[in-house]
Amino acid sequence: MIYLDSNATTPLRPEALEAMLPFLSERQGNPSSPHRAGHEARAAVEEARRRIAARLGFEPEEIVFCASGTEADNLALRGVTRALRKKGRHLVTSAIEHHAVLHTARDLERDGWEVTSLPVGPDGAVRPEALAAALRDDTVLVTVMRANNDTGVVQPVAELAALCRERGVVFHTDAVQSAGKLAERPGDLGAGLVTVSAHKLYGPKGVAALCVRRGTPLSPVTTGGGHERGLRAGTENVAGIVGFAAAVDLAFEALAADGPRLAALRDRLEARVLARVDGVRVNGAGAPRVPNTSSLSFRGVDGESIVLGLDVRGICVSTGSACSTGDPEPSHVLLAMGLGPRAAQGSIRISLGRTTTEADVDATATALLETVTRLRAISSAPDAEG
Ligand code: PLP
Repeated sequence: MIYLDSNATTPLRPEALEAMLPFLSERQGNPSSPHRAGHEARAAVEEARRRIAARLGFEPEEIVFCASGTEADNLALRGVTRALRKKGRHLVTSAIEHHAVLHTARDLERDGWEVTSLPVGPDGAVRPEALAAALRDDTVLVTVMRANNDTGVVQPVAELAALCRERGVVFHTDAVQSAGKLAERPGDLGAGLVTVSAHKLYGPKGVAALCVRRGTPLSPVTTGGGHERGLRAGTENVAGIVGFAAAVDLAFEALAADGPRLAALRDRLEARVLARVDGVRVNGAGAPRVPNTSSLSFRGVDGESIVLGLDVRGICVSTGSACSTGDPEPSHVLLAMGLGPRAAQGSIRISLGRTTTEADVDATATALLETVTRLRAISSAPDAEG
């Protein structure tokens, strides 16, 4: 199998699994318990918190562990609006956010919040001028992701965060697809809140962090205990947190080597596909992108059919976010970039991983040529339906 869907999830690093195993077997304490078993678990959680904080550019007490990136995004949006509901009723997001942000913003809209959705240019990037024009006296929160999950396009988060700082507005960025892929500490971007999820950087599923810069107004949205400084009630996932720390350390240590290697493989794949298949475009090619992601649109074919055709050949890619699989709607990200519904429907996302090789990329380019040629022949055959 050639697995090229790393933006959906990545396999657990063996080193992370190794670090987790004691906490899934003999070391089963609850970190909130007052006895030795509890202290042992607490020490492991706090050691992991220190390591994750240092890598991400935060203080340990600024890390709030959550059960997923989705939960962390929910806490950011719901927690800030809840804390600041007397100050204003307006928040700003972008048209290309992950559903974890998009659907939460829609839910807040149903609760009476006004939401401005910033457009993107044809390159898939938000323009800082658009944010400057959207900010109002009653804006309490701006949330714009660092790297898009469908296209890999990197957003100008430092500029957006600076604009918000000038106006005294809280800024959140979803860094789930950039952390461990870009040579930066997300904490250096100037955001008040940052979301990072373990399973996108070779850690375990079911654990994430919302980084909350000291002084950022945030109310809890779950109740039931004083965990995570009262911001996220619920017993910590000790093994998951320990695995998260191991994965974060390894991802940041490998960055300098992995980034350029993946970018070269991504460029090789795109060059081969563009040279051999007609009617292809690379979405977001004109903007800075994370090195592992390629969004390709093929004229006259359905992305879903390409995904199935490649799957039969043992190659795993996707049409976009795993959270929207089964959703017949074309990607809202590609539509926001100005692609028509048919072009958006004819798109796939290829996301490379740390074990991807040149041979994988070459086999994928060949399989794409064959699959797209076959699908086009079927759809242009005289007795083709529709
Ligand atoms: N944000 C982005 C940009 C993502 O790509 C994803 C997952 O696809 C999430 C948030 C959600 O993270 P999780 O799967 O940990 O809930």
